[in-house]
Amino acid sequence: MTAENREVKALIVGASVAGVRVARDLRRLGFDGQITMTSEEPYLPYDKPPLSKQYLAGLFDASRVSLLDATELDDLRIDLRLSSRAEALHARDKVVVDAAGAEIPYDVCVIATGASARPSPWGGDKRVHLLRTISDSDRLKAALAGSSKLGVIGGGLIGSEVAGTAAKGGAAVTVIDPLASPMARLVGDDVAGDFLAAHHRHGVTTRFGVGVETLSEDASGVDVNLSDGSKLRFDLVVVGIGASTNDGWLAGSGVDTGQGVECDRYGRVVGLDGVYAAGDVARWPRPPLWEPRRVEHWTNAVEQAATVAANIMRPTDPVGYDPVDYVWSDQHDLKLQLVGWPERSRLYCVIGRRDRVPPRYAALYADDQGVLNGAATVNWPRGLAECRRLVSERVPVPHAKQRLEALAVPSTPPAS
Ligand SMILES: Cc1cc2nc3c(=O)[nH]c(=O)nc-3n(C[C@H](O)[C@H](O)[C@H](O)COP(=O)(O)OP(=O)(O)OC[C@H]3O[C@@H](n4cnc5c(N)ncnc54)[C@H](O)[C@@H]3O)c2cc1C
Repeated sequence: MTAENREVKALIVGASVAGVRVARDLRRLGFDGQITMTSEEPYLPYDKPPLSKQYLAGLFDASRVSLLDATELDDLRIDLRLSSRAEALHARDKVVVDAAGAEIPYDVCVIATGASARPSPWGGDKRVHLLRTISDSDRLKAALAGSSKLGVIGGGLIGSEVAGTAAKGGAAVTVIDPLASPMARLVGDDVAGDFLAAHHRHGVTTRFGVGVETLSEDASGVDVNLSDGSKLRFDLVVVGIGASTNDGWLAGSGVDTGQGVECDRYGRVVGLDGVYAAGDVARWPRPPLWEPRRVEHWTNAVEQAATVAANIMRPTDPVGYDPVDYVWSDQHDLKLQLVGWPERSRLYCVIGRRDRVPPRYAALYADDQGVLNGAATVNWPRGLAECRRLVSERVPVPHAKQRLEALAVPSTPPAS
């Protein structure tokens, strides 16, 4: 797209980190046309990672999670339509229709509608919470203030973060998960053991290796019946069992829905002309196997959005996306940072101080060819920066080990 884009209408559906980044980058790259951004929520765009951490703890107020304020909206000439839920996309007419029946025309459309917290399959009412939006976090914060016993169902990233925040605030927390340890799927059982230890060190009770069978809520609490026959009672429960894509509104538009919107390497939606998708809702081909895959991490949303904006501006010479996955999580006194694909690799060694409290180390993961395929660092941002570079260079894992050892304090022996 050239400087002659004054007549072009860009429509961004979804106003969170992916949508906002597309809009900002379009203007930065010289897009001079109309930008309309819609959101089903009534609030100005905000960021999500603090919602289970500093915002939930009361350390950040709403201004600290803001992604875009009224002045910036003005400066960037973005027509932001709040409480405007997209309900259909008519590809032939190049129009998106919202719940109020408004028809919003586009020349270029970006789908950035993200994901929603998976609802409790066991039911529940006021005492059973999900966490995805700022109003979820507000509601949970208020409920935690008047409660002492919290049950967290799901020991993944968000469940573990909520457990850490609530325990620090004085709640008696129990985490329940059918896996053997928290985040075992991401980092493997060995490293996951350190996150289990952190829960225990901070007074969190854990029930890993058992599932929830039923849940019943009454006026004073919630009973949770577990697969081993035991029953636990809480003042409130948080269900953190993953997310599902917000792509149902695209039914009938010509794309498959339910598993995220399939795109090519340039972010263009397969089967829809002039339509792109980015962030949690999008399924892009990505390494290591280049199969279309969704990734629900903040950095992915930002990087895909940047790629989409660049490719809207240069449609005839688009740039492909070749990412190294990255996610961070703060749990108790542990900062976890993951690069690459540890979940598809075997743990090769751990370098650093795993024995100290809190630990500080890098775990290196190798693929079948002995190439560094992923790394998890704990409380070691400098190690992470090095790991990130080494994973993208696809170095042999012994070489990576040497490089990390040179950065580290004395190493612990290989974990297995
Ligand atoms: C509590 C929490 C903590 C997190 N912590 C971390 C972390 O520590 N590290 C990390 O890497 N990632 C973290 N994440 C994940 C990260 O926040 C997401 O990957 C990121 O928000 C994805 O951005 P997105 O713009 O693609 O989608 P979303 O943030 O899901 O935003 C989508 C937007 O679209 C709107 N929308 C949905 N449907 C429609 C519709 N039909 N019409 C109009 N608007 C619609 C939604 O209301 C929302 O505003 C966390 C997520 C949560 C919920």
